[in-house]
Amino acid sequence: MDLVDKYGIVTGAAQGLGRESALALSREGAAVVCVDVNRDPNQETADMINEAGGRAIALRADVSVVEDIDRAIDACRSEFGGFNYIHNNAGIQLEKPLHETSISEWQGIVDINLTGVFIGCRQAVRAMKDSGGGSIVNTASALSLSADPYLPAYTATKHGVLGLTRSIGTDPDYAQAGIRCNCICPGDMATPMILQYWNSTPDPEAAKAEMASHYPARRIGDPSEVAHVVVFLVSDKSSYFNASHLIADGGLLAQVY
Ligand code: NAD
Repeated sequence: MDLVDKYGIVTGAAQGLGRESALALSREGAAVVCVDVNRDPNQETADMINEAGGRAIALRADVSVVEDIDRAIDACRSEFGGFNYIHNNAGIQLEKPLHETSISEWQGIVDINLTGVFIGCRQAVRAMKDSGGGSIVNTASALSLSADPYLPAYTATKHGVLGLTRSIGTDPDYAQAGIRCNCICPGDMATPMILQYWNSTPDPEAAKAEMASHYPARRIGDPSEVAHVVVFLVSDKSSYFNASHLIADGGLLAQVY
């Protein structure tokens, strides 16, 4: 139980990586404000945590709205007595070639994947600066370091998350106030986001096998394999990690062929 003195927010907590991260953080003792636009499954995540003896509340909030994130920080402080971590994880995918991507689709994904992370980081830094610091963990992607021709907008937002993380982490004022900012770069993980992609293809099983075939172990990741890294980055065991990106991709990016 490394995280008994950690109080914070996980965004996109209703399912997938966010739910798994909220569960893993709470198992280590952290108090969690579960944030998501999807009310019922988000409440379900908080219920799962509380039923297992952890501490969680659910808040319906949109990461692209400043006031929503402020509400989540206020709720964290009033419910748990502090605020010292945030996992900016909520994100969406848009699979469209560049020439078919509309301006509103581009703006929609930028609003959530990049502006949402910007808001989460900014409001967290403002809140943590004078209260002893804290840990900011952003969900970036293997596509923060590489590219997918069929996901140009998504790839751009994830490169942006890495750049933002590095910039925040290298600010000496923030670092000296005890604030660290890191990101995690997952490869393909078995979440509803990926399931939705498989199901959008004519043969979901073949799509899954094709995806897995790119990985040295011929499998995609389990959300728990990202959640463990989030726990580490929130914990004081990662105290000298700042402005860094941790790649959890089963070796995908290291390959040439
Ligand atoms: P998911 O679609 O399963 O879950 C995302 C959650 O975010 C959902 O519960 C959704 O309701 C919530 N959400 C969406 N927009 C929101 C908003 N504006 N405000 C609050 N909540 C919002 O996706 P996932 O696979 O769990 O992905 C989580 C994060 O991990 C995303 O940032 C994604 O880009 C990233 N990622 C996923 C993979 C993967 O293979 N699954 C790989 C690399 C990175």
